Amino acid sequence: MEKIVSLCKRRGFIFQSSGIYGGLGSVWDYGPLGVELKRNVKEAWWRSNVYERDDMEGMDAAILMNSAVWMASGHVTSFEDTLVDCRNCNKRLKAENVSRKVCPECGGELTEARQFNLMLKTHLGPIEDETSLTYLRPETAQGIFVNFLNVVNASRRKLPFGIAQVGKAFRNEVTTGNLTFRSREFEQMEIEYFVKPGTDEEWYEKWIEERFGWYLKFGIRKENLRKRPHEKKELAHYAKACTDIEYKFPFSTKGRSTDDGNWSELEGIANRTDFDLKQHMRLSGKDLQYFNEETKERYIPYVIEPSGGVDRSVLAFLADSYREEEVKGEKRAVLSLNKKLTPIKVAVFPLLRNRPDIVKLAKEITGDMRSHWRVMYDDTASIGRLYRRQDEIGTPYCITVDVDSLSDKKVTVRDRDTMKQDRVAVAKIKEYLINKFSE
Ligand code: ATP
Repeated sequence: MEKIVSLCKRRGFIFQSSGIYGGLGSVWDYGPLGVELKRNVKEAWWRSNVYERDDMEGMDAAILMNSAVWMASGHVTSFEDTLVDCRNCNKRLKAENVSRKVCPECGGELTEARQFNLMLKTHLGPIEDETSLTYLRPETAQGIFVNFLNVVNASRRKLPFGIAQVGKAFRNEVTTGNLTFRSREFEQMEIEYFVKPGTDEEWYEKWIEERFGWYLKFGIRKENLRKRPHEKKELAHYAKACTDIEYKFPFSTKGRSTDDGNWSELEGIANRTDFDLKQHMRLSGKDLQYFNEETKERYIPYVIEPSGGVDRSVLAFLADSYREEEVKGEKRAVLSLNKKLTPIKVAVFPLLRNRPDIVKLAKEITGDMRSHWRVMYDDTASIGRLYRRQDEIGTPYCITVDVDSLSDKKVTVRDRDTMKQDRVAVAKIKEYLINKFSE
């Protein structure tokens, strides 16, 4: 884990928020490489769930919502953690993570449990009173529920169909640490999939498989991924069933690092029944039922919700792809990220940076590829060092322009994983890489 933390900061994936002021607890900034990786994760999710399916629409709701939404959803009354404090080391812990009634850190005595609401509050307008109180959304889901009929009417969709959304959510988390794993400001990738009651269990199973397969498709190793159905007693107030897709992180999120302690939620797939739509009907007084024109049936849909975290996925993709290996007696660190996710797709180097003709060709090639990919030009070290730098951030292909390139109009393309080198005609590089990226 220390290696990932160091890599994130050193190479510009993730920085502590407001670092020059000592930081802000569990709030993080994404640097030049982090922002690319995060965008690619969201893009991959959107492609798989919206473009490649014929039963999905997308939307982007505002972070701020009428506070009545959070009354209806149950967040005002039940979005709470039960907390205990250690009387010895003052550590604050979630009661659910404490199994033996003593502090897992120091063995100290714990206080009585108490409730703590996780929503961040703010006020809209110039007067700070109860009527102007509002919340930063703790989940993106409610923005979809309150727009359910708008989307049905605008898109003329028939059930079953889903709405996908990616966006920020905020929670005043208590147990923090482990980089971005549990942040106070984070992003969610959520789907609310609306189905006819009675077909919900079948769709619930389908979505578990679909989402599990997505992480494997984008490179998470099978041995580090598992499904964990919730026991009845852990189910959220709105859920009939829930299965977590868990990843075996290189740290514990539950106090102590054990084999089981390191398995933590990456995404939850819940059967939310008609709870949310019913609640919004009750509080808003609006009819949110779905009407099937063909069968003349009218009903409140059931909802299956695959809800994943962007930041947690980014962390899992980083942790899962980082490895160190020995190559010809030297250590090489490599991020074997899926090519669709890598922050930089191609790096271009001139073999000799003091030869203007080589530099010129290398820069021309870089410029030429910019319309296709995020490309990096680098001439600040020896070729060996430049390769190592790109391996460490996962760049799949490095192009080197050398003296021969000037006469034979060919360059060397080196593959991150096999380290094999191909000699490719400058005129054919784009085509060569397009083929490689579609493999
Ligand atoms: P946990 O119990 O681990 O805090 P949760 O069950 O409260 O998670 P959900 O409400 O199901 O999480 O949220 C859906 C997804 O959003 C989670 O699977 C996770 O990937 C992400 N997520 C939730 N809270 C956070 C957070 N504080 N920081 C980063 N990601 C989060």
